[in-house]
Amino acid sequence: MDFATKCVHGIGANDATGSVSPAIYISSTFAHPRLGETTGFAYIREANPTRQRLEKLVASLENGLDALAFASGMAAVDAVLRLFKPGDHIITGNDLYGGSFRLFHRYEEQNGLSFTVVHTSKLEEITAAITPQTKAIYLETPTNPTMEISDLRAISKIAKDNNLLVIVDNTFLTPYFQKPLDLGADIIIHSGTKYLAGRNDVLAGFTIVKDEKIAEELRLIYKSTGACLGAMDAWLVIRGIKTLPLRMEQHQRNAQAIAQWLQKQPKVKYVLYPGLPQHPGYAINASQTTGFGGMISFAVDSADTARQLLEKVKLIQFAESLGGTESLLTYPIRQTHADLTPEECAEKGITDCLLRLSTGIEATDDLIADLEQAFAALE
Ligand code: PLP
Repeated sequence: MDFATKCVHGIGANDATGSVSPAIYISSTFAHPRLGETTGFAYIREANPTRQRLEKLVASLENGLDALAFASGMAAVDAVLRLFKPGDHIITGNDLYGGSFRLFHRYEEQNGLSFTVVHTSKLEEITAAITPQTKAIYLETPTNPTMEISDLRAISKIAKDNNLLVIVDNTFLTPYFQKPLDLGADIIIHSGTKYLAGRNDVLAGFTIVKDEKIAEELRLIYKSTGACLGAMDAWLVIRGIKTLPLRMEQHQRNAQAIAQWLQKQPKVKYVLYPGLPQHPGYAINASQTTGFGGMISFAVDSADTARQLLEKVKLIQFAESLGGTESLLTYPIRQTHADLTPEECAEKGITDCLLRLSTGIEATDDLIADLEQAFAALE
């Protein structure tokens, strides 16, 4: 079945009523027919029919064996890190969502994990960081917010040769454009809050795996720690996914046009969008995905220009987050990456001149007109 059809029909018929929209099962517990028998459900923390429907859909979209739906993307990241033991070492990308950095370095290091930060776009940096304690490589491609691209096939090969897991946060491209498991990765993480739900109205996260043993371990962590997605929110994500292909195409159309337009603005110093042929990761991205996504970062000539643009856009909203129908302009240094030290930000290229734009699904001309008026109004 085609990806788009799967998004609409999910895992097939819902129940005997013929309901076209899947039911929301809000029961927290399920009655048993007899001792030692269940309907397949017992208690909501373990499984819920609405959530299970979503999990099966997401697993299928990523070509995985199993998926888990969490209460947030960060809960999904946290669950994956619980697969590791004190003393284990993880190689991570240099540029990741700031909350993942905070979790790794402020909390997981206290629990005995160690991390080496490398540019995962540079294979030699990954190879050099491997130690006998290394258990995994954790990355985003494109990265948030500097849009670096990493070669997932090559990284997976290095990982297999060294018995490491490859963990990919696939939030930015979604399975519509990129399927990391097919390229050799072992675990996928999503902030489902973003493109999967797609409407800036729900918090959710996912893990997707292809190995039965890892799936079992993660399910036990999930059941034990309980950061599960509620049934109502699971239904919202199911509804969101129905339009994922249409939305991703329009996000990308907008991003491509706006990235080209931004390049021509005198106050814009550089534009980071992997769909621009001059982007250093363009060829690798093109070889492993079917698209470039809807996220653009760009640097302007001064912190004051950045501040003014944030305040002068009208249709585009100055807000954190990404991947929804509404276009959002974000200031990574003060928002998504505010917990990093100034040195960490500088090292990653997150300056006070850098802005990140999540293009929504509005008409391209209206978004460009909004940016045009914001640039024209600069004082
Ligand atoms: N991964 C990426 C790439 C993100 O951008 C975010 C949030 O912005 C997260 C993970 C965390 O997800 P959540 O906000 O759903 O907890």
